[in-house]
Amino acid sequence: MLFGERGAVGFMPANHEGTEIGFFSGFEVRERERGGWEVFEGDKKGLKGMLGERFLDGGEWNGLVRELCGKCREDLVAWPQFAIPRLDSWLSPQKRVIVIGDAAHAMPPSGGQGAATALEDAETLAYAFTFIFSKKRPGDPEPDEILRSWQNHRIERVKKITDFTNESSALRKPSSSRLQRVIKELVIRMFFMVGKMGRGKRWLYGYDAVEESFDQGKK
Ligand SMILES: Cc1cc2nc3c(=O)[nH]c(=O)nc-3n(C[C@H](O)[C@H](O)[C@H](O)COP(=O)(O)OP(=O)(O)OC[C@H]3O[C@@H](n4cnc5c(N)ncnc54)[C@H](O)[C@@H]3O)c2cc1C
Repeated sequence: MLFGERGAVGFMPANHEGTEIGFFSGFEVRERERGGWEVFEGDKKGLKGMLGERFLDGGEWNGLVRELCGKCREDLVAWPQFAIPRLDSWLSPQKRVIVIGDAAHAMPPSGGQGAATALEDAETLAYAFTFIFSKKRPGDPEPDEILRSWQNHRIERVKKITDFTNESSALRKPSSSRLQRVIKELVIRMFFMVGKMGRGKRWLYGYDAVEESFDQGKK
């Protein structure tokens, strides 16, 4: 990822051989209805124009970014990002409906956590069900209590992850100060270097669904 005065760009190999490169960049544009977004995405010339304005009409971007932008295919896609407002409950009053994944907490993709949290929800909920349907011992919590405990644990974790995601989104916004841009690059380099060494953000990537979820079975 590179950070410039006019925003950020990220690129990665898009096939196994590395002969195709995919890249993305976030833009702040006005809100639209569904139809408006379809028109926005259908206007391939307009999308390419936006890229050109950011990456070609200014001398600051390095050659690779400028080359990618100049040579990219015409079928650019636009992904409007939405987030679900924070919900107080993922359970219906009768506990007959439970929402998980994006239905409960869709978040922008800038932290790469949407599918990850959806899988965590599913795994931890499976443990909750196992506990509910396993043979009950006297004094074991009631199903309602188990589900509420599961929900509270998940809501708390997803809140922390959403905060991390929002920080990631903020990093990618345009910044006019050169110092700020240098700091952003250092922050992201550190993030990946520390991650490579197997340290850092262990709370995020080292989540153990059995150990860290409510694990009522142990109580
Ligand atoms: C650009 C982008 C990049 C992303 N990058 C990452 C990443 O790096 N890491 C990460 O962890 N996450 C990432 N995500 C997020 C991730 O894709 C989502 O969080 C994840 O797909 C959510 O899974 P889900 O099963 O909750 O919902 P979905 O994947 O939306 O699945 C819901 C399914 O239900 C179906 N459905 C809807 N209504 C009905 C109905 N009435 N009847 C039957 N079926 C129905 C839909 O067709 C869909 O198949 C990214 C998302 C985007 C857009």
